[in-house]
Amino acid sequence: MNCAECGNPATKLNAKGIPVCSRHAKVSIKPPDCPNCKLEMVLRKGKFGSFWGCKAFPMCDGIRKI
Ligand SMILES: [Zn+2]
Ligand SMILES: [Zn+2]
Repeated sequence: MNCAECGNPATKLNAKGIPVCSRHAKVSIKPPDCPNCKLEMVLRKGKFGSFWGCKAFPMCDGIRKI
């Protein structure tokens, strides 16, 4: 199967179950809302892997696991 976004070999399914490459697996997921301030969250990378972080960081430190 090939990535629905770019045609490269698909390695994952996105949130909708569509085959995508690792590059497009992340951008296809709709960001959740921050549990603290309800702003949109952005994908961040930390020591322990990727997670959702609040857009308003460092003013707000809301995070969610992916
Ligand atoms: Zn792709
Ligand atoms: Zn927040």
